[in-house]
Amino acid sequence: MTHVDWKPAGSRLVAGKRPLSVAALLIIGLLTSSARAAGMAEYVIHISVDGLGASYLQALIDSGDLPNFKRLQAEGAWTNNARTDFDYTITLPNHTSMVTGRPVMDKAAKPTAIVGHHWIINTDPGTRNLHGNSHDYVKSAFDVAHDNGLRTAMFASKSKFVLYDQSYDAANGAPDTTGPDNGRDKIDLYVKDGDSVKMTDRFIAEMKSNPFQYVFVHFHDADTAGHAKKWGSEAYHEAIKAVDGYLGRILELVTTDEKLKGKTAIIISADHGGTGLDHFYNRNPLNYTIPFYTWGAGVAAGKDLYSLNSASRSDPKADRLDYVAEGLQPIRNGDGGNLALSLLGLGPIPDSSINAAQDLHTQ
Ligand SMILES: [Zn+2]
Repeated sequence: MTHVDWKPAGSRLVAGKRPLSVAALLIIGLLTSSARAAGMAEYVIHISVDGLGASYLQALIDSGDLPNFKRLQAEGAWTNNARTDFDYTITLPNHTSMVTGRPVMDKAAKPTAIVGHHWIINTDPGTRNLHGNSHDYVKSAFDVAHDNGLRTAMFASKSKFVLYDQSYDAANGAPDTTGPDNGRDKIDLYVKDGDSVKMTDRFIAEMKSNPFQYVFVHFHDADTAGHAKKWGSEAYHEAIKAVDGYLGRILELVTTDEKLKGKTAIIISADHGGTGLDHFYNRNPLNYTIPFYTWGAGVAAGKDLYSLNSASRSDPKADRLDYVAEGLQPIRNGDGGNLALSLLGLGPIPDSSINAAQDLHTQ
């Protein structure tokens, strides 16, 4: 991880001493905007609330305990019936799907097979990275954003997320072959802090001083409380209320900061829900039913995401659907990476399959 100063695309072109004609500036404007022509947001904050089961969430919203989630429902496009990965309802495999747009496992499919990211380990990765495990480079939303000159970051509240830092650092990240060389380190800033309050403080300070255009933020609180005291316990509810508070601070940031105001989109999902003291069993609806919320620039207010996407996604009711199931796919946490890129006006993650057509619409 290194701290790289981001320069707006095209800044070098206009830095010369000779004044440029209006026509030249127009041409430069066309050239530099072409890669991101459809961008509806300049900044995307991609958030994962670890262990947030949709049914627990809605019960707390209904009882008036989560003012910020309630606000996200009123002002954003969302569903409480999104899905995790088909095969795994544990943390690192699902977060890897979120940032790579791939399922965990390979799937035989026509016309082309779906290639998973293959990361099934859910403990600290040691020195391993996603590519060595998969025997092939696994591209991510960080690659696409960074290779296109955007500033990127990850804020994580569990140590095992170092997997992403060491998969996309200066040694293991892919060479940048898109436009100007922005280097191999795809995550400009990686912050790990098990204290979510302090992590949120740091996130807000960094966003105020030099905002990231694509940033992933992970909150562990609900998962930690679930494992200690059970999903649905008072401790679990208190942890979700705490996360609601962090989201309130983030909403405050993006609605008041002059650089971010009106230009920032937020995506929120979860890696899995849970029941009892765990979430391992992939066939339990309490484990695989998760929220998927979007808010801000490029997002309609108060809309159901399945209604907005009736041509490409279908509400799975209570079912657990494989990636090769007949009919339309459910909305999944793995849609988030390619959605973030489409909101930023960028194309999909190469070799991804979940939302690779970038046809999940938020308005
Ligand atoms: Zn867990």
